[in-house]
Amino acid sequence: MFNINSLIKNKNHNKNHTSKEIDYIVNSFVENKITDPQMTKWLKAVYEYGMSIDETANYTNSIINSGRKVNFRSVDGYIVDKHSTGGIGDKVSLILGPILAACNCYVPMIVGRYLAHTGGTLDKLESIPGYNGLVSNAQFKKIVKNVGISIIGQTDEICPADRKIYSLRGRTDTVASFPLICGSIMSKKIAEGISGLVLDIKRGNGAFIKDEKEAVNLGEFLSLIGSKFDLDVKYITSDMNQPLGYSAGLLCEIKESMRALKGDGAEDLMKVVFDLGEIALNMGGQNNSKEKMCKAIEEGSAYEIFLKMVYEHGGDVKQIDTESKYSFDVVSKKEGCLKYINTKKIGNAVNYITILNGKTDANAGFWFFKKNGDYVKEGDVVLSIFGNSLDNIEFSKKMIKQSYIID
Ligand code: URA
Repeated sequence: MFNINSLIKNKNHNKNHTSKEIDYIVNSFVENKITDPQMTKWLKAVYEYGMSIDETANYTNSIINSGRKVNFRSVDGYIVDKHSTGGIGDKVSLILGPILAACNCYVPMIVGRYLAHTGGTLDKLESIPGYNGLVSNAQFKKIVKNVGISIIGQTDEICPADRKIYSLRGRTDTVASFPLICGSIMSKKIAEGISGLVLDIKRGNGAFIKDEKEAVNLGEFLSLIGSKFDLDVKYITSDMNQPLGYSAGLLCEIKESMRALKGDGAEDLMKVVFDLGEIALNMGGQNNSKEKMCKAIEEGSAYEIFLKMVYEHGGDVKQIDTESKYSFDVVSKKEGCLKYINTKKIGNAVNYITILNGKTDANAGFWFFKKNGDYVKEGDVVLSIFGNSLDNIEFSKKMIKQSYIID
């Protein structure tokens, strides 16, 4: 009926697709009737020429319909989630999710793996020994109802099309496209059966979006698509001109999140957590939101919920061993103010040492001792690189060469 080559040609002539054509593209790709090179050509055409609001809504719908939707009709509480457009050291979901659950919300969270230079929440959680992030729909629902939160990835049951397209986008330089980002994020969120969504639109040299104006445009675009599916969406924009918090990697980010849930979170990280949390709780009709979130941390209920969630997914935090064989300190050769960090380079290096060298090293990562604007003395440790492979550390040192400007 349809022919993928003509559809690619149409998009390359800036023609809009019908909803049936988009269904055909998404379904045929999931069923392996469209090959990776053909899909890449289509993704590149969309990357170049974009998609209208209607096309994007249809694309989102096709991804949702590639799997099943979750239904939480019987829960008594606000069903809310948070998502980010992708960052480095971005562990907000791991902290905010349990806090919202401790504040009487239900948080069914479907997340992604690493994408291009950005990290993935699922990769981080799966570095906890035993953690299964690909549970069945029924288990997902059960954990959300019993614990208040469950964090999983795109499965065969929920948004399988996003899983396949997401991975191809990461490999083909087709990530930073409004309609593709929008379809990917909104399909997962709508399929979760939530009532409200808070979005963290990252902007800066480590994000897919570079400046505030573009970030606001994307926020508006995402909110508009949400409204077409009766989903209440609010967003903030936040800085990604440096990694968020102190660490980037897999287990080191889990540990940092656990520390934050116990009340010892980095200032920049907790600002994003609280900003998004306040909006989410207000959307659910709660007031004194900041006080409630602080109480959930102080009294330990958010931390308890994190532990319970990990346990219900088969994970065991007691088995976490963050020791690594090697570490290397990057030391400043001069004195001055830290003016610039090439965050994208850092993100690529983090993904390289943790996942992208053929062997996952959950213990590898970066620790950041200096933030933008900090005063640095000659000899100060700016960051530390650690892991179980000396070769990877050496290679990542080369990858991040000249990433910091101290002036
Ligand atoms: N997060 C997603 O889930 N999808 C994107 O395309 C970007 C960030």
